[in-house]
Amino acid sequence: MPRTRRDIQRYARRGSTTARDYGGPHQAEQKRRLARWKPGDPCARCGQPMWQRWEYVGGRRVSAMHLGHTADRTAYTGLEHAHCNLSEGATRGNRMRGQRRAAVKAATASGTPSVTTPAAIPAPLHTSRQW
Ligand SMILES: [Zn+2]
Repeated sequence: MPRTRRDIQRYARRGSTTARDYGGPHQAEQKRRLARWKPGDPCARCGQPMWQRWEYVGGRRVSAMHLGHTADRTAYTGLEHAHCNLSEGATRGNRMRGQRRAAVKAATASGTPSVTTPAAIPAPLHTSRQW
């Protein structure tokens, strides 16, 4: 449920939390796990201790921990450093875009227009945004 103008603007850009699978069930699970978190518990991704509950990004207080997903989003990995979680997603997104660019380049280099070799180009990226 959008509460502020900022929420409405964010939902217009990226989709609502529910549309991105970060709605009620995700938030409830994250809240449940955060209630059991103790400073120094290990990060599910890097294994280093998580000491901070909050951090400041651009002057705004945000959670220093995220509830991580597996890459296929079928399961939770557990609480992670926000940095580890965001970094993994960025790395994976960049790699997916790189593979698509390489396929397009290979199809172009082989002399055949890319429209005639659809098999060489991977399916469009899966993103959580509603286009
Ligand atoms: Zn970590």
